[in-house]
Amino acid sequence: MEIAVVKKGILEVVRNLSLDSKVQEALAFLKGNQDTTMKDQMDIAAIPAPTFDEAMRGAYYKSRLEELGLENVVRDAAGNVYGIRRGTERGPTLVVFAHLDTVFPLDTHVRPEVRNGKVYGPSIADDSRGLASILTILRAFDHSKLTTVGNLIIGATVCEEGLGDLQGVKAFCAERCDVDGFIALEPGQAGQVTYECTGSRRYKVTYQGPGGHSFNDFGKPSSIHALGRAIAAIADLQVPPHPKTTFTVGVVQGGSSVNSLAAEAEMLIDLRSTAADSLLKIEEQVLKLVQHGCAAENDRWNSEMIAIQLERVGDRPAGSQDFSEAIVQTAVSSARVLELTPTTQGPKGTDANVPLSLGIPAITLGSGGDFGGVHSLGEWFDPTNAYQGPQQILLTILGLVGLKGVSQPLLRERKCNE
Ligand SMILES: [Zn+2]
Repeated sequence: MEIAVVKKGILEVVRNLSLDSKVQEALAFLKGNQDTTMKDQMDIAAIPAPTFDEAMRGAYYKSRLEELGLENVVRDAAGNVYGIRRGTERGPTLVVFAHLDTVFPLDTHVRPEVRNGKVYGPSIADDSRGLASILTILRAFDHSKLTTVGNLIIGATVCEEGLGDLQGVKAFCAERCDVDGFIALEPGQAGQVTYECTGSRRYKVTYQGPGGHSFNDFGKPSSIHALGRAIAAIADLQVPPHPKTTFTVGVVQGGSSVNSLAAEAEMLIDLRSTAADSLLKIEEQVLKLVQHGCAAENDRWNSEMIAIQLERVGDRPAGSQDFSEAIVQTAVSSARVLELTPTTQGPKGTDANVPLSLGIPAITLGSGGDFGGVHSLGEWFDPTNAYQGPQQILLTILGLVGLKGVSQPLLRERKCNE
C-alpha cells in the first residue's frame, strides 16, 4: 500500500537536502559504490551467525565499522556491535541498526554464489543486505564529508530472529535513555517503510496427569482431553479486526499410545496484535481458557489430577504510530524525492518493535534490491538498482538529524524518562 505525503513542510526540507551539492555527491557515490556493497554483502553472508551464536560475524562487523571511522565501537554485553558518528553535539540522537543473526545453523553457511545476475546464499538478504547498506552509507558520509547536526549510533544487534526474542535491542534500549529515533534496516525494496510493529506473546502449555491404561484406568482425567477442551474454547474466541489481533495454537503433541490415558500433552500458542492493550487482552483471555481446559477435565472426573505448566517462550512488544509522524513522513518524503514509491506492507516484527513500544519514534526501512526465499536455503538477492535503498536511507537519516549548514533536525529531542 502506498503511503501519502501529508507533511508538506517535511517534504520541502528533504527536497532542499537532496539539492545540496554535498548530498548529491553522496547519492552519486552510493550508486557508484554498488559493486563494493554487493561484495560486502557476500562477505558478511559467508560468516555464520545463528541467533545466540553471532560472535564471529560480530567481530568481523566490528572491525569493518572501525575501519570506516566510527568512534567508540563496542561489542556490548549482549553482543550488539555499534559505534557513534558525532554531529555538532547539539541535535537529537538517531540509531541505525541492522541485525547480525540468521535463522541458519552454523554448518549451513556457504560462500554465496552468483547465478544469472542473482546472488544465492543463506542470509544474503536477511540481513546481510542491511549490514552492507550501513557500510556503504558510512563510506558516503566520509566521501562527501557530511557533518550532521545530531549524533548517529550505527551498527547491528544480535538475537533479532525467532527465539532470540529481540534480546539484543531490548538490552540496548534498557541501557540508555539518549535515543530520540530508531531505524531498523531489513531486506525490502527501496521505498518500503514499516511504521507499525506487531507484538507477540508465545506460550508453551503443558498439561500433566496420572496417565494409565485406557480401559483399566478409565475414569481418570486425560491430559490430551484437557488440552482439547482448552483448544476448542480458544478456537471460539472473538477478536477485533482493528487493531488486528490474532491467536493460533501452532503445535500440539502428547500421549504415548492409542490405548493409554495421556500423561502429558502440550501446545505452543502464538498471540499477536499491533496494539499493546489488545495483546494484553487476548493473552488474558487465552490464559483463562488454558486454566479452563484443566478445570473442566478435572471436574468431568471429579478429580484434581491434571496440572498445568506454563512457560512464556516469546515476548515482542507491540507498537504503532500514525503515518503522519515526522519519522515516517521523513522516510516517505525521501522516497518521493528520489522518485521511488513509498509503500508499506503493514505491521511487521523487527528490532523497531522495542523502541516503538517505549515511545521512541521508530521505523523499518527496506535496504534496496529484490529478494526472495528469506529464511530458506534458496534465499536470493537481485542487486538491480539496489543502491536506491541506501540512497533513501541516507536521505532519511539526514532529514532526521539535520545537515550542518543546510537543515535543522526533523527529529525531536526527547527528555530522558519521557
Ligand atoms: Zn531480518
